[in-house]
Amino acid sequence: MKHSISTARPLPSITLHDVGGLQDEMKEEILQTLSILKEPDRSAILGIKPPKGILLYGPPGTGKTLLAQAITKEMEANFFSTSGSAFNEMFVGVGAARVRSLFQAARKQKPAVIFIDEVDALAGRRKQNGGEEGEKTLTELLVQLDGGHDNDGILFIAATNRKDMLDEAFLRPGRIDFSFQVPLPDTKGRMEIISIHTNGKQLAADVLNSLDVLAESTSGFSGADISSLFETASRRALRDGQDMIRKEDMDYAIDRTILGSTSRALNDQ
Ligand code: ATP
Repeated sequence: MKHSISTARPLPSITLHDVGGLQDEMKEEILQTLSILKEPDRSAILGIKPPKGILLYGPPGTGKTLLAQAITKEMEANFFSTSGSAFNEMFVGVGAARVRSLFQAARKQKPAVIFIDEVDALAGRRKQNGGEEGEKTLTELLVQLDGGHDNDGILFIAATNRKDMLDEAFLRPGRIDFSFQVPLPDTKGRMEIISIHTNGKQLAADVLNSLDVLAESTSGFSGADISSLFETASRRALRDGQDMIRKEDMDYAIDRTILGSTSRALNDQ
């Protein structure tokens, strides 16, 4: 189904437990942020202002969107999600009007999370940001982020692979209060993600017994790579009329995933 950028999206029921490989410190900060957001009145008594904006940055497929969805679910908020490129328009003023209508729609359905993926396409440094139209759109985003009490009950979450490209005015506290790095998972993180993506799947004994070896040998894999690994293995087992994932399905899936990552890396060059 195609969604307009000003329509709240339904979300599957996910929680922070569905996001693997988060470092303990980051988990702690996110939980603290959530408790402030969930109890704004109590936080106000303690003189704590709820954060308005969060930036998630890191390589593709590390779970930034998943994390934004989990935060939204934990907040029991409506999810307005779009990509920075949805605001890039040839005609001056169109991108800015889209930014305005996105915030207006979210303000009508509080509590709400506004999630913008690939935010660098919208909030890149002014000089590099697509001339007059790009400049107007970014200025409108800054105006909307500065919305004062109109933005109570709204959390803005932005994600990017290119934090270095973002305009400094956008990153100012009050607009973006916290930046969280979401890196590629280490061995422990990959093991957590493997557990999440094998939950409920039937695995042959030799696959099950070698999951820790898999975690060690998949250095450089993102959460999305691990998810696609088990999807591919499951599909192959199904194709062969099997009701469990066998070692040969895993070997096939690993080859396919490595091939996919290599061709992506080549395309990115
Ligand atoms: P991009 O930068 O390309 O937008 P992203 O960081 O937002 O990527 P997601 O879209 O959240 O990555 O990840 C895609 C899918 O990969 C998720 O829906 C999930 O199935 C899986 N995945 C990615 N990271 C994790 C993780 N940390 N834990 C569990 N699953 C993950």
